[in-house]
Amino acid sequence: MSKITIAIDGFSSTGKSTVAKQIANRLGYVYVDSGAMYRAVTFYAMQNGFIKENYFNAKALVANLKNITISFKFNPQLGFAEVYLNNRNVENEIRTLEVSNFVSKVAEISEVRQKLVEQQQHLGKQGGVVMDGRDIGTVVFPHAELKLFMTASAETRAKRRYSELIARGETVTYEAVLKNVQERDYIDTNREDSPLTKAEDAIEIDNSLMGLQEQFDKIMQLVKVTLKKEV
Ligand code: C5P
Repeated sequence: MSKITIAIDGFSSTGKSTVAKQIANRLGYVYVDSGAMYRAVTFYAMQNGFIKENYFNAKALVANLKNITISFKFNPQLGFAEVYLNNRNVENEIRTLEVSNFVSKVAEISEVRQKLVEQQQHLGKQGGVVMDGRDIGTVVFPHAELKLFMTASAETRAKRRYSELIARGETVTYEAVLKNVQERDYIDTNREDSPLTKAEDAIEIDNSLMGLQEQFDKIMQLVKVTLKKEV
C-alpha cells in the first residue's frame, strides 16, 4: 500500500502532537514535531545570549544559524523521536514556558523558517510521515494527501497546557499560560512569512469537547478513506 503524507496544523496546544504520535504509531509512519525544531532554535538563542528578558538579537541568531544542527532520534521507551540540538537531547528543555514565550518571535524570522522547512521537506520526502505544525499543509507539504486543521477554545487549550507544565514540575500560573497561548495565536496568525492558516483542502477538527479516543477514531477514519483513494 502506498504511504501517504499527513499534515496536521492548528493553534498551539490543540493536541496535535498527541494525536500525530498515535496515528504515526498505528500506521508505522515517521512522526515529525516541527514545533520542536522552532523550539530548539529558540533554546539555542537563549543559551547563547541572543535572547534575554526583553531582548532579542535576531541578527546574531541568523548569523549563527549555520552552527545549529537539529536531529531526531527514536526513543523506543517513549515510542516517539526526541529532538536533539547539536547532538544533545533537548526534548525536555524546549518545553518550558520560557521557551514558549519567545518561540513565536523566532518563528517569524524568514531565514529560520527557510532552514527548518528545507529540513522538514527532506524528512518527509519518502512519504509515510505525520508532521504537525503551523504551515505543514500550506507551505511544507502543500500536496499532502491528508490535511487536518485542529482548533479548540483558548481556555481549553490553556487548561491542557497548564496541566502538562504542572505535571512536569514547572511553577506556572494558569493566567500566564493563557496569556502565552493567546500571544502565540496572535503572532502565528499575523506574521508575514507563512502565517498559520487553514489550507483550503484541510479538514477542520474542533476538539474542545472531544476525548482522546474519539479524536483518534475520527482521524483514523479519515486516514482509511484517504488510503482507499490512493490504492
Ligand atoms: O507546536 P508548538 O506549540 O511546539 O510550536 C511552537 C511554536 O513554533 C509555535 O507557536 C509557532 O510559533 C512555531 N511553529 C511554526 N511553524 C511550525 C511549527 C511551529 O511557526 N510548523
